[in-house]
Amino acid sequence: MEFFYQIINFLILLALIWLIGRKMIVSIFADRRARINRELDETEQIEQAELSLPEVPTVFSEEIPQSILHEVEEIHTHAEKAAANLLRQTDGELHDMRREMLSGVRDAFLKKLSARIGELLRTEPYASMLREKEAEFADMIIDRMEVTPGDMAYLRRAGVLYVTLTSAYELPQEIVDKIGRHATEMLAKIGGTPSYWVKVDPNLIGGLRFRVGDTVYDCTAEDRLYELCRALERREISGDEDAETLVADMLEGIMSTKHGVNEYQLGRVISVSDGICWLDGLSDIMYGEVVEFECGERGMVLDIEPDRIGCVIYGKFEHIESGSRVRRVGRIASVPCGDELLGRVINPMGHALDGKGRIWSKERRPIECKSPSIPDRAAVFRPLHTGIKAIDALVPIGRGQRELIIGDRQSGKTSVAIDAIINQKGKNTVCIYVAIGQKDTTVADIREKLTKYGAMEYTTIVCAPASASASFQYIAPFAGTAMAEYFMYQGRDVLIVYDDLSKHAVAYRELSLLLHRPSGREAYPGDVFYLHSRLLERAAQLSPENGGGSITALPIIETQAGDISAYIPTNVISITDGQIFLDSDLFNEGQRPAVNVGLSVSRVGSAAQTKLMKQVSSRLRMELAQYRELVGFTQFGSDLDSATKRVLDAGERMMSALRQSRYAPLPDWKQVLLIYAVAEGYAASVSPADMEAFAEEMYSYFEGMQPAVTEMLRTGKKMSDDDKKLLNEALASFGASRTAADNEVA
Ligand code: ATP
Ligand code: MG
Repeated sequence: MEFFYQIINFLILLALIWLIGRKMIVSIFADRRARINRELDETEQIEQAELSLPEVPTVFSEEIPQSILHEVEEIHTHAEKAAANLLRQTDGELHDMRREMLSGVRDAFLKKLSARIGELLRTEPYASMLREKEAEFADMIIDRMEVTPGDMAYLRRAGVLYVTLTSAYELPQEIVDKIGRHATEMLAKIGGTPSYWVKVDPNLIGGLRFRVGDTVYDCTAEDRLYELCRALERREISGDEDAETLVADMLEGIMSTKHGVNEYQLGRVISVSDGICWLDGLSDIMYGEVVEFECGERGMVLDIEPDRIGCVIYGKFEHIESGSRVRRVGRIASVPCGDELLGRVINPMGHALDGKGRIWSKERRPIECKSPSIPDRAAVFRPLHTGIKAIDALVPIGRGQRELIIGDRQSGKTSVAIDAIINQKGKNTVCIYVAIGQKDTTVADIREKLTKYGAMEYTTIVCAPASASASFQYIAPFAGTAMAEYFMYQGRDVLIVYDDLSKHAVAYRELSLLLHRPSGREAYPGDVFYLHSRLLERAAQLSPENGGGSITALPIIETQAGDISAYIPTNVISITDGQIFLDSDLFNEGQRPAVNVGLSVSRVGSAAQTKLMKQVSSRLRMELAQYRELVGFTQFGSDLDSATKRVLDAGERMMSALRQSRYAPLPDWKQVLLIYAVAEGYAASVSPADMEAFAEEMYSYFEGMQPAVTEMLRTGKKMSDDDKKLLNEALASFGASRTAADNEVA
């Protein structure tokens, strides 16, 4: 009996589940079906709208574009003639100039194109077609209309929100009323009232523009034309696109309603001075966003206050006036990146400074980007050879490391970094040299040297010279890092040099003071540490799952009178994984590069050093430090015991072995050979002055007469006792050959 009841209960349960479940399933499918139907209807409408577009009348395609083309050609020939006759440049330079001028011709062409299309749109049949679409535009605007948090805040403050409807022609009353009614309803929901204005502005060419507070919903032909021209400006016009097709494409783009409503925000300039600009409105804007001024110049938001926005202006600010309009671009500041940038000198915005024409890169990256997280990273394990003996042996650098180069002015900081770049030739490493606050001539010199040594092919120079605005100098290292990140995330290795971050800190201080931020120690703003730490945190060795790429950063800091305990030096020392301290005294004594062994350190690099180098140089640091100490100690003493003398002699010889001229990076095996030979006393008879000649002789002897030993050194593997014996024998026979040669000469 009980069993029978259980079956009945179970059946009732099943029936209930079926009843409820069926309803839900049916409603879900009905929703989906309705949505699909709606989308199908919409696409059909769009297609219909496209179909009803008339063909571009032949009058336009034949007459007007031809005349535009003709004018363009005229400018073009004029430019070439000017370049050839007046400037008498070499062929290469002439070529560069031509490309530059062609880009000028492009701008002129785009201006003409835009003016021409504006004229066309004002004539029939386009003018009446645009008028016919007014009701449709109104519906599109009503669909998109909403109140932003910024508008709400304004409404609460002022009690009323300004709402403006602008059109090119007088609108039918029902459209005006419909939009007005909608705006009133929308604002009533949040307890506000609109102050509704209707205007006519023939500059709009056609269509409607509706503004609620800061937000503009734009369906005008003027705005569409502006957007299309901007898109055309950003891409390369290919060979088979002539003015004719461009005009036809643009007309079609303007007449189609497929693109919908363009929504953006507008603000006003309150005041502008010293590259800083205060804005009113744009209450929803975010830190780091790009704004565009009426004159076409751009800026970046750096300060958000309750009643105003502070932004830096990238370019010239003379044309920007208080009261002029500012448009929110809708993205944060970014720079172009990619292989197209290699071999080029650019400003932090990615614009060419080398006269080789515009850079058409397809990719962009935001200049501020989150650094890779801990799980995304791997430990530093591969060496980045600088080719400088004193560095590779004593303060080795690993890929993904941040190693600071610090020293007084004119102590060889830039030279170390440039040598490191030159040494990356053939090592599949991309280099980026960021020049901040340097002289133009210094940068030109560096470019020339890099070109001469074949390093420019894999190098980009990002240049914000001393003459550039503080905002450019502030952005430069971030822009350089964004370009480096592009390569890193592709699994490639990058070396980036920031020359130098003291000037970067000064530029940031200037901006901060102009933005009225409170100043702290040495008048730097409180977040100057965060500025450099978030920059240098982006250097990383990615884990193999993330492609295994790396960014190695070599920031440079200039000290005053060797004071490494000043504010900015201590900050950057604590951020980086070690520092190479260049000592002016050593430099003046002729010890170049002037690496101070006692104060230089590399915290992670030794893990990346080759086993062989580690084996050879392990004692070196201690012995050199001892030597430096003894030198100071014995400066005034005359009588020295033989043990001290030996240490001094050996030290002096080793120091002279570590000397190296500029632009002469040394392969790893040669460094190992020299350091081993000097440390083991095979150069005991060589005076410090002859050390360089001795080294050269030894390298060529080993390459010619000892190929087996050379090969062993090249592998970079730890030497066994047998290997050591072989090397010792080879060095002894080299010593013997030298003595024999000396005797012969005598
Ligand atoms: P600044 O403070 O002006 O930026 P810096 O510290 O970057 O200077 P560099 O410009 O690299 O220094 O070098 C200063 C001078 O020292 C240069 O004239 C250069 O020729 C010389 N110099 C640098 N390194 C060496 C070297 N290894 N051998 C010989 N001369 C060198
Ligand atoms: Mg320098």
